[in-house]
Amino acid sequence: MDAMKLVIVGAAGRMGRTLVRVVAETPGVRVSAAVERTGSIALGSDCGELAGAGHAGITITEDLDAALAGADGVIDFTAPAFSVALAALAARRGLVHVIGTTGLGPANEAAIGEAARGGARVVKSGNMSLGVNLLAVLVEQAARALGPDLFDIEILEMHHRHKVDAPSGTALLLGEAAATGRGVDLSEASVRVRDGHTGAREAGTIGFATLRGGSVIGEHSVVLAGEGERIELVHRAEDRAIFARGAVRAALWANAQAPGLYSMRDVLGLAR
Ligand code: NAD
Repeated sequence: MDAMKLVIVGAAGRMGRTLVRVVAETPGVRVSAAVERTGSIALGSDCGELAGAGHAGITITEDLDAALAGADGVIDFTAPAFSVALAALAARRGLVHVIGTTGLGPANEAAIGEAARGGARVVKSGNMSLGVNLLAVLVEQAARALGPDLFDIEILEMHHRHKVDAPSGTALLLGEAAATGRGVDLSEASVRVRDGHTGAREAGTIGFATLRGGSVIGEHSVVLAGEGERIELVHRAEDRAIFARGAVRAALWANAQAPGLYSMRDVLGLAR
């Protein structure tokens, strides 16, 4: 069978370069085009050379339409506005669209849902790693078992100094898992910021704390704090390749699915 032809958008980014490397070493997939934004200094470079994967013979282009023509799917770790626009294009062409971009607002999420109903096979997750998706299952179970009266839930994350959105998509994914376990709506239970005289902690809330600095790829702790005891569930990402490998696995999986919006839990068989 022919290898699945994948377009890497944001090909010069931290994740884009990692994806070019991982696709090159994964059987069953190949990079068919690499795209960057207008004005990027990477335009015209060979995507493999830029990624440190050797010459690929594929020049990074800004011509998205030409890149998508003839492709089977697109892997997208870029920026919210671009991911939304790309979802509509992917739907029109019936492509697989793997979205790792984080910081999507409710209107972005709605537009991506619309694109999935319009014919794209979308896999979207704030974290594409096996470890974090398994952690989310454990958090959901712990939150369900321990209940809001005896245990408080706090989610702490740290990322490199270049990250532009907070809390991280992974922290929100873990918060959603905790909220699901408790049977509450995260948007009503979450406390994103604390500053000054806040008063005592409100029972049942799910708190977030964000650290930024250096080159940290991603660390997340979910703390369940009770009277006299504390449980900490922790994930430490040591290599961006874990997200890229998850994204490629998602693309191959989605290639055999009907149009729709899927999560990494569906891909990994961890769905409820
Ligand atoms: P980055 O800034 O290094 O790379 C983003 C790239 O996208 C840049 O090269 C930029 O030029 C490109 N881009 C932006 N707009 C574009 C457009 N209109 N057309 C083409 N290219 C465009 O960032 P990064 O660290 O690679 O992260 C990218 C995104 O992926 C962020 O939202 C980050 O939070 C997310 N992320 C998700 C996961 C996951 O597992 N879901 C893991 C890591 C990072």
